[in-house]
Amino acid sequence: MVPGARLIVLGKQGAGKGTQCVRLSHHYVVPHVSTGDMLRAAVKQGTALGLKAKDQMDRGELLGDDLIMGMVASRLDESDVRARGFVLDGCPRTVAQAEQLAAFLNPVELDMAVDIEVPTAQVLRRLAARRVCVDCGANYSVSSPPLINWTCDVCGGEVIQREDDREEAITRRLELYERQTAPLIDWYRARDQLAAVSGIGAPDSVTRRVIKAIEVRRDRKGGRFT
Ligand code: AMP
Repeated sequence: MVPGARLIVLGKQGAGKGTQCVRLSHHYVVPHVSTGDMLRAAVKQGTALGLKAKDQMDRGELLGDDLIMGMVASRLDESDVRARGFVLDGCPRTVAQAEQLAAFLNPVELDMAVDIEVPTAQVLRRLAARRVCVDCGANYSVSSPPLINWTCDVCGGEVIQREDDREEAITRRLELYERQTAPLIDWYRARDQLAAVSGIGAPDSVTRRVIKAIEVRRDRKGGRFT
């Protein structure tokens, strides 16, 4: 049986977190828990949370720690996560969120935080070219569009540019990343839970590097995560 895992993936917007998280979730057979996807689903469904979140998301601002961690805690409490673990994508984004996550998981620990490193100039290019399916979130780019007329190859949904992938919002999101999220790298390093992996190159090569980093750590811990 494939062992489960409790993982978080850090990295600037456009570093390829979403793509790598989907692959990790298949590899370790654990749910992919993406706060951005959960919030976009809430916006689409027009729930109270969605109505509250939309403006801030479109502007690239972060939502409040308590709101996010309330949403994440209830997802992490579900049976699929309890049985196998998770790949957490887009959270934590602040030290306060990391502290709340550690307290929530206690006495169990996070197995690992993977930081996918890509230079800012490259993520800016990727984000400006990124296009996504409004229905299933599949990623495309202007240089690698869906086969037919901006219709998603996976589900037939409309493929568009995310509101927060426009220039102003991108600048704001990267600014917030440096200020609020980058300090988490040292936070996890100090707890010996960090692996930094280069995110440059083809997605397959990045996936191989990430899985190798996870397995090296698993071996160091005697073949099993907590
Ligand atoms: P993402 O798809 O992860 O880039 O998230 C899209 C947007 O959702 C972000 O720009 C924030 O507005 C909001 N968001 C997602 N995750 C978080 C989080 N952990 N903390 C605060 N805001 C978040």
